[in-house]
Amino acid sequence: MRGAKQMQQMRKSASELFGPAGTPKVIVVGAGLGGVAAGVKLKKAGIETFTIFERSPSPGGTWWDNQYPGCEVDVGSYLYSYSFKQRYRWTRSHAKQPELLRYIEEVIDEQGLRDHIVLGTSVESAIWDEARHIYRVHLSDGTVEECHVLISAVGFLNTPRYPDWPGLDDFKGPKFHTFRWEHEHDLHDKRVAIVGTGSTSTQIVAAIAPDIEKLFVFQREPGWIIPKGDHDFTEEDLAKFQRAVPRRRERIRLYTWLEMANFRRAIHCPGTKVNANLENICRGFMEAELADRPDLLEAVTPNYPFPGKRPIFNQTFYAALKRDNVTLVPRAVTSVTPTGIVDAEGDEYPVDVLVLATGFQPTNYLASLEVTGRDGRTLHEVWRGEPEAFLGMTVPGFPNFFMLYGPNTNGGEIISFLEHQSSYAVRAMKRMQREGVTAIEVRPSVFRAYNRWIQRNMRGTAWVVSNNYYKAATGKIVTQWPHGALLYQFLTNVSGRLSSTARRAVGATTSLPPAREPAVPSTAA
Ligand code: NAP
Repeated sequence: MRGAKQMQQMRKSASELFGPAGTPKVIVVGAGLGGVAAGVKLKKAGIETFTIFERSPSPGGTWWDNQYPGCEVDVGSYLYSYSFKQRYRWTRSHAKQPELLRYIEEVIDEQGLRDHIVLGTSVESAIWDEARHIYRVHLSDGTVEECHVLISAVGFLNTPRYPDWPGLDDFKGPKFHTFRWEHEHDLHDKRVAIVGTGSTSTQIVAAIAPDIEKLFVFQREPGWIIPKGDHDFTEEDLAKFQRAVPRRRERIRLYTWLEMANFRRAIHCPGTKVNANLENICRGFMEAELADRPDLLEAVTPNYPFPGKRPIFNQTFYAALKRDNVTLVPRAVTSVTPTGIVDAEGDEYPVDVLVLATGFQPTNYLASLEVTGRDGRTLHEVWRGEPEAFLGMTVPGFPNFFMLYGPNTNGGEIISFLEHQSSYAVRAMKRMQREGVTAIEVRPSVFRAYNRWIQRNMRGTAWVVSNNYYKAATGKIVTQWPHGALLYQFLTNVSGRLSSTARRAVGATTSLPPAREPAVPSTAA
């Protein structure tokens, strides 16, 4: 038991180091699900000295950015929710985008985060000051802030992949990426081309096909599609899930399914029972849906092992492809004319509107945020095209810097990962206060051993032999976590202190001015 005198001394030491509040000043980049999780964990730990900067005019992250028709989550709603906010009246098994955005807004208000969020301001770069143990953070409004701890919560599907097809700029009609859907265009009497058949496109195709004149769907390589089973909750379901026990049971059911599938990486490795079962489910689904259209069945059957790419969860895409007004073009797009799209065989399809469902740049981590570490090198210089981090969060040479959903953390149970990562960062801050240290950094030996282990775990997965967005240009898989959420939780809980070193700034005080007030009022989209 620590004596009162000792506690008082520690408190004095923390306020001497971090200012009157005695807590480190924190900047969080991004007010999506990650930034909000970080804010909640900080507040719960008594750290009020933080600001969340969000580049968009509204919080919500990916659920603000992606507002395309049919947009909804792939994970069951009662699992795709924070552990601290389970009580919510979800209207569907898999919530749609507007409902998810409302959920995030509600969390922000309930948890008192609104006053910590500055909207419409991006964090462009952060430079570590080794003499003072602080980051100098450059914002898009031209100002510079300082903080002791920097948390990146920018997500990893936040930089769209725009194609560089010849002629694209000369296309006469509306053209836009799914990340910025242009709702002002009335599509009902239009011929529309959608390029790509990933998770985003398959949702859009099913949503818009009934209401437009003609839809061309360009597919370079088909994905494995798992029937999603999404549905509106009945009145009975809604009443049931108002009660805590059925809600918790539903969450456990969804969580257990994912844990079992990920146990010993079974879902990702061809040759296992779990992998074979899921591939059979996909095959059975496509054969049943397309029994009367052997041409389509052949075109959408993948020729690489399950799952290879990120599996698609969708119930309605195959049915939409069979519509009279829909044509699947099973070829890549290679160029664009002012009035049409040209495929890899040189055939041109006349269209009025072009939708780019061409995905993102997931391996280009922190594309919009340049972080410079202790030795003057940026993260991107250190990574040299192969992003890596300890548990996806920390990198040697970058003290007090934490990434949420960083390298090799994709594929698990997203929200629980974001919460565990936030808690990990907060525990490091509590340590700073407790021990009177001003810099915490992962040990290089731990970082190297961990990344060797992660890469060994990629062996035998279908990812290695397939085309997907998980691989850096060098071929190394830099996005995926190959296990379940439980193992990740265990590692983040036990490894923080063991894996890092702590130092105290010599001489100079690191006390900083208070956190910035929000400049732009938040509005729900
Ligand atoms: P994506 O999975 O990367 O799909 C991009 C698509 O564009 C692919 O089909 C790709 O073909 C195709 N493509 C690229 N260039 C092409 C060309 N020249 N010609 C024809 N096709 C071309 O991107 P996304 O669909 O936006 O999904 C990204 C991720 O977002 C998903 O994997 C998922 O993690 C997440 N997401 C989640 C949800 C949800 O939770 N509900 C919904 C949507 C998205 P190749 O396959 O040949 O590369």
